[in-house]
Amino acid sequence: MKKIISLCCTTALLTASLFASTTSAYRDNFYKAVNQEWLSSHTIKEDEGEVSNFSLVSDRILEQSRQLIKKIRSQKERTQDEQNLLNLYDSYLDMDQRNALGIKPIEGILKKIDQIKNSQDLARLFVLFRDRSIPTPIHIGMTEDRKDASRYIISIGEGGTSLLKKHYELKDEEAKKQMRTLKHLYHKLLTLAGYDNVDKRVENTIAVEHALAKVQWTQLQNRDPQNTYNITPYNTIKKTVDNLDLDAMLKVQHIPTTGTFTVAQPSYLKALNGLLTSIDIEQWKDYTRVICLASKAGELTPAFENAFMDRALELGVVAKIPSAEKRAIGLVQGMGMLFGKLYVKHFFDEQSKEKINQIVQTIQASYQEVIKNSKRLSPATKEAALQKIYHMLFNVAYPKRWIDYSKLKFRADDLVGNSNQYEKFELLRAVKKLDKKVDREEWGMPPQVINAFYDPSKNKFVLLAAILQNPFFDANGSEAVNYGGIGFIVGHEMGHCFDDQGSQFDYHGNMKNWWTPKDHAAFDVLKKKLIKQADAYEVLPGKFANGKLEIGEIIADLSGAEIALATYMKTEEAQKMPRKEALQAFFKQIAKTWRSKALPQIEQMQLDSDPHPANEYRSNGTIRNMDAFYEAFDIKKGDKMWLDPEERVKVW
Ligand SMILES: [Zn+2]
Repeated sequence: MKKIISLCCTTALLTASLFASTTSAYRDNFYKAVNQEWLSSHTIKEDEGEVSNFSLVSDRILEQSRQLIKKIRSQKERTQDEQNLLNLYDSYLDMDQRNALGIKPIEGILKKIDQIKNSQDLARLFVLFRDRSIPTPIHIGMTEDRKDASRYIISIGEGGTSLLKKHYELKDEEAKKQMRTLKHLYHKLLTLAGYDNVDKRVENTIAVEHALAKVQWTQLQNRDPQNTYNITPYNTIKKTVDNLDLDAMLKVQHIPTTGTFTVAQPSYLKALNGLLTSIDIEQWKDYTRVICLASKAGELTPAFENAFMDRALELGVVAKIPSAEKRAIGLVQGMGMLFGKLYVKHFFDEQSKEKINQIVQTIQASYQEVIKNSKRLSPATKEAALQKIYHMLFNVAYPKRWIDYSKLKFRADDLVGNSNQYEKFELLRAVKKLDKKVDREEWGMPPQVINAFYDPSKNKFVLLAAILQNPFFDANGSEAVNYGGIGFIVGHEMGHCFDDQGSQFDYHGNMKNWWTPKDHAAFDVLKKKLIKQADAYEVLPGKFANGKLEIGEIIADLSGAEIALATYMKTEEAQKMPRKEALQAFFKQIAKTWRSKALPQIEQMQLDSDPHPANEYRSNGTIRNMDAFYEAFDIKKGDKMWLDPEERVKVW
């Protein structure tokens, strides 16, 4: 907003007219009015597809990572972690070596597929796929027991499809585009691998994927944690999928058959077993060829990798392919805690921790206060809600303990080998957890990711190092910037413990109802109102938000904004200002936090599958529920930002 301030200083007349037009713009579309200058001055980079506070921080981290790799290269001595990251980077960029190897790294598997004659052979192939970290229609992993948060159990889930269920049904242009580009990709992969009759093979692959998608659950069905928690004896699961060699699949992953198992989609498992024999084996063979090629394409020759890039161009999610060097850095950044440890060591400002902890603690105190004062909740529910806040674990910036990766020995000339080593290491690390109690201090996301999250099974909230920087957070910035930025995000994550999913877990992290029926019913009314509001929001011309999918994030946003505002208004900075001015500064910062511009295709994909509302809605949709916003900007009935008082929702 620099421009307006400087104009304000020049002539009173111009100031008055500008202010008038701005305030009316605030009433019309607050997000657009606040971000007018930013939106017109920022362009989307051709190889990124969107520009936002997140993408700008991501660009900064990319440059830091680039410098870090340079520094490691210039060092005379390197730690094993440093050497591994450097070797990984070099192995990615060694295009001559990748070209020389061709499809050799997966030739053995492709030959095995050629030899398949029946469903027993197919079952044996899936065992091999599990060993090589190639996806299969059944996913076996480790998870925390939702009803006993102290232990890990084995989860059996779905997999093996490339698109969302609705895309296979080809009901609209978007679905057709997704399918068309997917077919082009498969066509290229099979052609590059030297197969004939490629059109037919692509059709076979899509037929199998579609058959799997038909019997898999929708995103909405998967949202309810009760639905997807089904403790089942191993022998029952084995009988349900007796066309698979489940014993061998577990053995190759070093997972014991004696553990406790939960099945995410029981009906899918049953249906999958039928499909293993009802679908023609030749179709299965083409499907497995494509899955194998697609899962390893990024590590094979550049031509294979380009097939994926071409799809991104065809879909319109980028206008230009990122350079190989940028992709190599991306690969290094993707090495979880291995890269995270170095990122934090070099780029996280330890000094800022004190301020962050202060924001977290004040927001926690506000939550406790509003819950205590809530007129909506009964004493019993209130007590349980307070326990959740009281026992919530906060992790800021990076984990207490790092994972020891010293056993990994990456090579500068073996990209596929490096990737296999890493996958196996992580797989074994996960399996070893089965013998141990859940470690509440363990993180599910590395600190270089620009994010924050709430984990209901651990009743824990994590602020990752990468988000603790400008423009989300500034240790020396104003309270309005910090509470409308990172404070809102802290409040949002804590708000997740009361959203449609988090509210089903108690303070231990166990899935257990702690609401009285009356409180639950009132919460449902609140949810329905917010869903209705979101459903009316037009994200793209003629395309509306999916309130049921986004409700968890919507509740967290509104809860976070209410609490962040209450906390901010108690700061010395806000107390010293006229109330209206303080409110204005806070709401403007919320709009700034979510500013972004994206290519329509990215917006479409977010609309299809992202449980987060569109960024404009995260600002406008949230604040129009808050009475203080009306007070701050004199919003009146008839203004587009107006919502009738009885339609407004107050979470707390
Ligand atoms: Zn969230």
